[in-house]
Amino acid sequence: MDASHFFVERAPVIVLVAAAFVFPLLFFIPAPYGRHYRPGFGPSLPARVAWVSMESPSLLLFAAFWWTLPQRFESTVGLLAGLWLLHYAQRTLIFSVLMRGEGRRKPWLTVVMALAFNVLNAGGNALSLAPRAVDAVFLAGVGLFVAGMLINLHADAVLRNLRAPGETGHRIPHGGLYRFVSSPNYLGEMIEWLGFAIAAGTLAALAFFVFTVANLLPRAISHHRWYRERFSDYPVERRALIPFVL
Ligand code: NDP
Repeated sequence: MDASHFFVERAPVIVLVAAAFVFPLLFFIPAPYGRHYRPGFGPSLPARVAWVSMESPSLLLFAAFWWTLPQRFESTVGLLAGLWLLHYAQRTLIFSVLMRGEGRRKPWLTVVMALAFNVLNAGGNALSLAPRAVDAVFLAGVGLFVAGMLINLHADAVLRNLRAPGETGHRIPHGGLYRFVSSPNYLGEMIEWLGFAIAAGTLAALAFFVFTVANLLPRAISHHRWYRERFSDYPVERRALIPFVL
């Protein structure tokens, strides 16, 4: 089996199996980083270094694989690759650098797992890209991706601005979709990858969307519970992830 066949055929299946495994697990064992960081998960490294390292395959490997495609400059393939790279340039080079919380750490275990996932996911998604008809479905997918990214960027910016440089504590976020939910950054992330899956129409993109939900839905519920336990004045009408629903 050559590498391309592995990434296109096998990697999305591995991602789907991983999603089925982590979804129930994360309800009982929240991924040990950020506010859920705790001892017992082995050695750790600075959070900023961790984010840059673990997200870089999604930027660099994806770009390298996309570049090998004969159809790389076909308009829909180029657009989808551009959206992906925009998201991951932001996450790897901007989010990681701007994040506040000096001294925050991430266990190596979570970084290595994320790295392995990102290699499979970036490879599968890049090498699966193929020309698409520019129809209502494609445009709806692109529109959802852009809307999700704007929601995600705004929500992460609100969180960043809750801390002055050097601070590490947590406050109640307000504004935008925080009026309705505790984790609009996760909601935006899910909308982005749903849109990408619709526009790309590949198994790899669908698997990534499913994994994102499996990973972030339990974490959004953990975050919501954490806020409610710590802040007696936490807005009662706010839900965890989906306005008015969940
Ligand atoms: P969080 O919302 O847990 O944290 C984001 C940043 O904001 C962290 O630096 C965090 O600090 C800080 N922060 C969060 N809440 C507060 C608060 N109440 N007061 C002050 N600072 C706060 O997000 P994640 O770290 O889990 O994820 C970061 C980004 O990566 C998100 O956009 C997410 O969508 C994306 N992501 C995507 C995944 C996918 O599967 N596609 C998987 C994981 C993340 P601290 O760490 O100290 O809490």
